[in-house]
Amino acid sequence: MNIIFVASEMAPFSKTGGLADVTGSLPSEIHALGHNVITFSPRYSSVDILDKRLRLTVKNLPVSLGGVYESANLYQFDDKSGVLHYFVDYPDFFCRDGLYGTPHGDYPDNDQRFIFFQRAVLEAIKALKIKADVIHCHDWQAGLIPVYLKTLYAKDPAFKNVKTIFTIHNLGYQGNFPPDSFPSTGFGWDLFRLERLEFYGKFSFLKGGIVYADAVTTVSPSYAREIQSKEYGCGLEGVLANRKDTLIGITNGIDYKVWNPSTDRDLIARFSRRNLAKKAVNKKELQKENRLNIDPEIPLVGLVSRLVDQKGIDIVVAAFDEMMAAGIQVILLGTGEERYHQLFRDIAKQYRSQFSPHIVFDAKMAKRIYGGCDAVLIPSYYEPCGLAQMISLRYATIPIVRAIGGLADTIKEFDPVKGLGNGFRFEDYTARALVSAVKRFVQTFKDKNLWQKLVQNGLDCDFSWKASAKKYETVYAQTKRQEVRNLK
Ligand code: ADP
Repeated sequence: MNIIFVASEMAPFSKTGGLADVTGSLPSEIHALGHNVITFSPRYSSVDILDKRLRLTVKNLPVSLGGVYESANLYQFDDKSGVLHYFVDYPDFFCRDGLYGTPHGDYPDNDQRFIFFQRAVLEAIKALKIKADVIHCHDWQAGLIPVYLKTLYAKDPAFKNVKTIFTIHNLGYQGNFPPDSFPSTGFGWDLFRLERLEFYGKFSFLKGGIVYADAVTTVSPSYAREIQSKEYGCGLEGVLANRKDTLIGITNGIDYKVWNPSTDRDLIARFSRRNLAKKAVNKKELQKENRLNIDPEIPLVGLVSRLVDQKGIDIVVAAFDEMMAAGIQVILLGTGEERYHQLFRDIAKQYRSQFSPHIVFDAKMAKRIYGGCDAVLIPSYYEPCGLAQMISLRYATIPIVRAIGGLADTIKEFDPVKGLGNGFRFEDYTARALVSAVKRFVQTFKDKNLWQKLVQNGLDCDFSWKASAKKYETVYAQTKRQEVRNLK
């Protein structure tokens, strides 16, 4: 099949979170299964890492923004693995400091930016005469593509028999905009209604993807169920329940070539399950760099996360004193809401020898934390899939998680009697439940035999893409075979 990926971020070219990890690794896994794969993402400044390897393929591609035509350029990069990457170039929109905004908020023209991006992708597919079987759209920034294909482009021969898959990576980010930006889409006002794109007086890119795509997937089976409930549905639970027959949860994988402690040049000492003792070198260095007491017997916990409510940061703050009293050290790496930045800087003054916060985005430091810590904490309020738990297990580091979404699907509580399980989990979204899980971790850590068993269990897990890529392949094939879905 010919599969096209459309996403607003794609590692290693652009990244703010897990979406980039997925769209950065899934295409080559699908290609490895024998399909032709092409990707489209915006040409941000960060794409310049490709430098001279970028080739200008289409100049002055006309793209309509509410009937006014602007010119985009299209750049191509062949990564030699068989996947062809295209970048939509329009510097006014995409060459900015951030991908979606600044620490003070979203860019006010994100509606224009991503309407433009999506229409440019469709025009590029036509200009390049790409014959697609499936267009796989990711998150709200690509949510209008299924809408375009069933409306403005419905009779366009370039898209005859093309099916769309829409993947929700995080329902909390919906791309909702006021009615005055609706005309920029080029859609008629008949689409601005409850059964289509209207969402509480605004119009929603994400809802567009859910309503119009031929199949909808999300990134874990538990999250697929949870988002049909009022508590986790973000107002879209009804719309999602309507599509439950084609709403499929496929757990993300991680790229085992990228996340590999035996080849990772960012680690002080590389290790594998055969020479696990070397992990201790990374821990020692991490404690030293962070000016924590250097002692292998002190349990060291990492927290690598966006600092937003979704990630459970409020219960971390509430649990902080008790976590410190449990005798652990914590290294935090994250950016997000300003109030959390300040809170953690204040907490650090109180616990200088036990707590080291880094309020930055730093991929290299993230790897050193995964490599050197004994455990990572992932206390999310909701978590569509979560990658940190899979990455940490690959680095022989044990996850302490709230049992929700993909975390519940991938992490099982360690049972010291049976010797089964790969981490520690808590159900209630409270500081108390979190502290109790941290204490179980500390207790297990102190028993060297049990700890060794737990670490081995973690290393036995396989979260590579292999199984999940096959599931996507099945969804592509089923969607391709299916008759065009008529909207009710
Ligand atoms: P989300 O996409 O919701 O942020 P995921 O767990 O799916 O959460 O993915 C987060 C990814 O971003 C992981 O690879 C994690 O290591 C990385 N990450 C998060 N914050 C930082 C940071 N401050 N510096 C470096 N990497 C980070």
